Amino acid sequence: MKIHIILGCAALLATAPLFAQRQPGVSSQLPIRFEELTTPDFITAVELSEGVCIVPFGILEKHGPHLPLGTDIYIARNISLQAAGREYCVVFPEYYFGQIYEAKHQPGTIAYSPETVYRLLQETCAELGRNGFKKIIIVNGHGGNRFFIHYFCQAQLAEAKDYAVIFFTPTPNPEVAEKVSGLKETVEDGHAGESETSEMLVIRPDLVHPERAREQSGENWQRLHHISDIWTGIWWYARYPNHYSGDGSYAKKEIGELIIDDSVNQLVRLIKAVKKDDEILKLQKRFFHEAEDPLNTKQQQ
Ligand SMILES: [Zn+2]
Repeated sequence: MKIHIILGCAALLATAPLFAQRQPGVSSQLPIRFEELTTPDFITAVELSEGVCIVPFGILEKHGPHLPLGTDIYIARNISLQAAGREYCVVFPEYYFGQIYEAKHQPGTIAYSPETVYRLLQETCAELGRNGFKKIIIVNGHGGNRFFIHYFCQAQLAEAKDYAVIFFTPTPNPEVAEKVSGLKETVEDGHAGESETSEMLVIRPDLVHPERAREQSGENWQRLHHISDIWTGIWWYARYPNHYSGDGSYAKKEIGELIIDDSVNQLVRLIKAVKKDDEILKLQKRFFHEAEDPLNTKQQQ
C-alpha cells in the first residue's frame, strides 16, 4: 500500500546561527543513517541536519504472492535515504510498528496492539526530541498507517512538547501521473499491484517474483457494495481477502523510477522547507502556552 514531520523552540532558535556556520562538504562525509553515526558524529549530524530527522515508516505484511513482507519498509527507507543524500538530514532505522490489523489473517503479519503502536511512536519521537531532533518528518510507505499518523500528529497537541511531528504527504504530480498511466496496463492497481511492484523492481529487484504475481487473484470482491456511505474496519478484507489488489505481473522498472524520483524530489523540497521554517515551533509553543490558561486566551479579531 502506498506516502509523512516533528519540532522544540527557544533552544533551537538560540542555536540557529550556529547551523549557518557549518563547513562546506562536511555533510557529504557524515553518514545519513542514524545507526551508522558515532557519538561525536551524532552531535555534528544534529547540527548539520538543523534538527531534522526522518522516520521511515513501513509495516510487515503480505504483498501478494510475489513481493516481500517488508516492501513498504524498503520503499519508505529508500525514498528517505535518497532525499537525505541530497539535502542532509538523519534517517532513523526501519520503523515497522504501525497499523495492519486488516492483514492478521495472512501469514507474516506483525500487528502490535493499538496502545503499543501509539506509545512506541510517541516514545520514539520524544527520544528523538530529547536528542536534539526537534523536527521529525514521518515518511510513510504503508497506506494502512495513514489514518493513524494523522491522528498521531493531531494528538501531539494533547501535551506540551518542544518538538514537532510532520507528516510528509506528497502531492500527486500530474506530469508524472500522465507518464505513468501511459506506461501502465492495469486499471485495478493498489496493494502489491503494477505500480508498487514496479517500485520494488527499482529498489530490490532480487526480492521480486513477477512470475508468481498471477498465482492469486488481486480482484476486488466487492462484498460490501450493497451498503454505501459507510466506513468499517472489515472494508479492506471485504474487497481483497488475498490482501492483494491488482496484478503485479505487468510491473515495469520505468514506472517505478518515475514514481520514486517524484517522491524523492518532493521530499527534498520538504526537508529544505522544514529546515528553514521556525513557524511550526513558534505556533506550537504559543498554543501550549494558551492551552495552559484558556480563559485568558486572546481572541483574534
Ligand atoms: Zn505496500
